[in-house]
Amino acid sequence: TRDHGSLRGFVRDIADFPEDGVTYRDITPLLGDSSAFAQAVTGLVDEFSGVAVDRVVGVESRGFIFGAAVAYRIGAGFVPVRKPGKLPWAVVREEYQLEYGADKLEIHRDAIHPGERILIVDDVLATGGTARATAKLVETLGGVIAGLGFVIELDDLGGRAQLGERPVKSLLHYS
Ligand code: 5GP
Repeated sequence: TRDHGSLRGFVRDIADFPEDGVTYRDITPLLGDSSAFAQAVTGLVDEFSGVAVDRVVGVESRGFIFGAAVAYRIGAGFVPVRKPGKLPWAVVREEYQLEYGADKLEIHRDAIHPGERILIVDDVLATGGTARATAKLVETLGGVIAGLGFVIELDDLGGRAQLGERPVKSLLHYS
């Protein structure tokens, strides 16, 4: 695992977004820079080199960007996990708790076959609710979590602990 500290310069801190007291890590400068984007994608690929992966699952919506690039690089298929009502065919749905209220994610029922090894990719691991729900969707369909890869992990929010024994790798850590 290489040092990805140079990517920090492409993460913009936005105070009080989406609500007061929250510092949002904006990765759009990283996406817009050809070498920073390439380094992030290559970094995620390298973290799981030597790990067998049949498909990459990306979480709506920034997980689509990194996940699709990683899938292409490793020669795996890509599967979208989406907010409710977006996927057109039969779905499995997982509901998870937020600080205020609940949220839901869906996956197509035929997107993963039993025994397939799945890499989940998203831009940011925060409280872990999104990643845990995504892992549960994969496991409901019989998939095996080969790993979860994030560009950024917000260490103080405890997301890693929500993911149990599943292998988690993040390129950048913020406290
Ligand atoms: P969690 O469910 O772990 O609390 O939140 C993770 C989800 O919210 C991810 O899909 C991620 O894209 C989004 N998210 C939460 N906080 C941030 C942030 O500071 N920056 C960005 N870019 N996404 C965030």
